[in-house]
Amino acid sequence: MPDIVVKFGGSNLRKKSDVLQLVKIIKAYKKPLVIVISANFGITDYLFDQMIKIRNQKAESELVSRYLEQLYRSIINKNFEDEKSGEKAYLQIRESILELERYLLGVSCIGETPDFLEDLILSYGERLSAILLNNLLAYHNISSKLIYPGELPLVTDGEFGNASVDFGRSSEKVNQSLSSDIHYIIPGFFGISPEGKTTILGRGGSDYSAAAIARCIKATSLDIWKDVNGFLSGDPEIVNHPVLLEKITYAEAAELAYFGARILHPRTVEPLQDCHIPIRIFNIQNGTEKFKPLSVVNSEEVVREGVVKSVTYSDDFCLLKLKGPGVGIKPGILAKVTTILNKSKINISSVITSQIAINLLLSKKDLKKALDLVKSLGLTAVNDIIAIRNISLIAVVGQGMLENHGIAARMFNAVARKKINVQMSSSGASQVVSYFIVDNKDRTEAVCEIHKEFFEKSSRLKKS
Ligand code: ASP
Ligand code: MG
Repeated sequence: MPDIVVKFGGSNLRKKSDVLQLVKIIKAYKKPLVIVISANFGITDYLFDQMIKIRNQKAESELVSRYLEQLYRSIINKNFEDEKSGEKAYLQIRESILELERYLLGVSCIGETPDFLEDLILSYGERLSAILLNNLLAYHNISSKLIYPGELPLVTDGEFGNASVDFGRSSEKVNQSLSSDIHYIIPGFFGISPEGKTTILGRGGSDYSAAAIARCIKATSLDIWKDVNGFLSGDPEIVNHPVLLEKITYAEAAELAYFGARILHPRTVEPLQDCHIPIRIFNIQNGTEKFKPLSVVNSEEVVREGVVKSVTYSDDFCLLKLKGPGVGIKPGILAKVTTILNKSKINISSVITSQIAINLLLSKKDLKKALDLVKSLGLTAVNDIIAIRNISLIAVVGQGMLENHGIAARMFNAVARKKINVQMSSSGASQVVSYFIVDNKDRTEAVCEIHKEFFEKSSRLKKS
């Protein structure tokens, strides 16, 4: 049976050169694999937008089908030279698109998107990728079996939109379902509720599904093939000479992902860390030379000289500030706020309070709704509620942050040198991260300055 789970992005199934590269990689493993695939780039967003438009009678299910048929027709034309195999792939894909069309038609008829239908519709990006990949591998003489999460079954807790895998219910059965010596192809991003409904695992969640399956089969590794060069000390678009992080802990990877690094979904480490299954990150463009991963995420705690391993940032956060002379000491305010936000499935990323203010760090997409909800509580102890949008969060991550002195001082000094104002900061929420908030216009300069402080300076010193 396969002992490695391999995750590819659906966008690697578009261009012929990418497909050939992917096929080469699969062949190079020379052993059966469990292959998890995500949707083609942008398809999940497209499905979401169309679903909302169809609900509001502003789009038609049939046009969505036509668009997807054309998209896949052109992908197939580019990748299958033999007409018969291309046609076979197209017919299977078309069947799936027509299924989707019926669900979208349902949305149009009822004028609503019930949770279960929304999750089902959003899962089609991955379903289509998996059918395509299964056919592409057959065309390249690699036999594989397409298996859906519902057949494994990968059972979730049933929370629509953001489900978690229930390992108690899944592990043994998934392991049994994947026990032959063949390649399995599984669409990522969704599982099935105990009642048999498709439940998605949160946006970007196909990394998490691959990790969950790796846990179920007790894999020796989860190999994630990306289009980028592993975990770096900073965003290559904005810092000078980022350093590659060859080894990084589960905690560091999770915090980096949570605070903005786009390389992994923040939940990917969750299923793996207590089983010590490593995540190996490869760049698909580099191919398989010696199968040397760019970055390996595991439990080995390496403290870097200088402690900080990476600086990351996110522009997706915003602040909701509740001001009042005694909000810090008055019990129950936070409970009311978190309860009402939770009912609307609004996630709170962080809470920092003082005697006169409660600050909630939220995702920008939730700010308007959160503001209205908190206002609707009519909290007498709160005399002002302020929404702050134009901020960026900068996080510095490294094993040993709490145990070593002077790290935060260096970080703040670096920012102060550029006269950048720090609006709020937090250290110690976990062992490995400190973060702070600046005005959005200062973000790039702050990140560059911190990177310089922890990486470029020491490398200059080392060289001299
Ligand atoms: N296709 C899903 C999304 O866009 C899952 C993923 O890409 O990992 O959220
Ligand atoms: Mg993705």
